[in-house]
Amino acid sequence: MLIVMNQGATDREIQAVVRRIERMGFKANPIPGARRCVIGITGNEGPLDPGEFESMPGVREAIRITRPYTLVGREGADGPTKISILGREVGGAALTIIAGPCAVETEEQAMRIAELVARAGASFYRGGAFKPRTSPYSFQGLGDEGLRILSKVREATGLPIVTEAVDPESVSRVEEVADVIQVGARNMQNYSLLKHAGRCGKPVLLKRGLSATIQELLLSAEYLLAEGNRQVILCERGIRSFDQATRNLFDLSAIAVVHGLSHLPIVADPSHGTGHRDMVIPMARAAVAAGADGLLVEVHPNPDRALSDGAQSLYPEQFDRMMKEVRLIAEAIGRRVAEPAGARA
Ligand code: PEP
Ligand code: MN
Repeated sequence: MLIVMNQGATDREIQAVVRRIERMGFKANPIPGARRCVIGITGNEGPLDPGEFESMPGVREAIRITRPYTLVGREGADGPTKISILGREVGGAALTIIAGPCAVETEEQAMRIAELVARAGASFYRGGAFKPRTSPYSFQGLGDEGLRILSKVREATGLPIVTEAVDPESVSRVEEVADVIQVGARNMQNYSLLKHAGRCGKPVLLKRGLSATIQELLLSAEYLLAEGNRQVILCERGIRSFDQATRNLFDLSAIAVVHGLSHLPIVADPSHGTGHRDMVIPMARAAVAAGADGLLVEVHPNPDRALSDGAQSLYPEQFDRMMKEVRLIAEAIGRRVAEPAGARA
């Protein structure tokens, strides 16, 4: 249930509602908004009586939630969530472009790609230091050395860093360097990792699981919000299908479905969504046209030598072209591509 407070509700009135919820044995999740405060009730198994709250001073209405998630749903939200990260806003009119290699391989490789993507207009840098690989014999990432390189990239380019934490133990190490912690597709339902990430102070990019429904994605996001982290960015990265023509089935409709159900921003990853670099630009254009709040794209100057995901990594000149094309599409639908502050050469 969501308790929507009046616009001028006082702190005392809000606290009285919180205390009543807690006395009933449930958790109160106050969500302060620009216009009014909403309090989400979680932990109840059966439906609650709206009358219990509607008679309290300062309460405008109590909304019964019929979906299995309370905090990620659009109901009661003060419009779409906007997340501010190092002066960049995710989830507003401007699209967030996150680009970089699949994995940090060497300092030189990471730095070179950072300069290329910054020059082309990316507003965030991505690169894995901890890589969840299907085979235990594949490159697993540079680990802590990769994190050290990522902090140098941030220092040199000013780009905020998106990088993955693969287990609960690594969250605190990743958190020291990352501006956004990525929870990858393979870990979307690692609930212990989600709880740790939900308690950390950094925004989280949550990727859709390999065969996850949209409801499962939203329930995983609910774990993060239930732990107090409201800075969550969802990511559509394709799901398993019977068709081998692409690595995954890039589910464009998930973008529209999520916008209909949740206040959280959603970015699209056409790199993992297709698995082939020649398909990345068309699907990036389509994702922007479908309303994605941004793109996450892999770029490598020498993809044939990449230690992971070379086949889907764009050449730098392709990334340049993609940026030019998505700028046009964004304008056509009344949006724009965020320009990184001072990062463009
Ligand atoms: C990645 O972003 O490099 C990655 C491993 O993605 P996913 O979790 O979507 O497979
Ligand atoms: Mn990858």
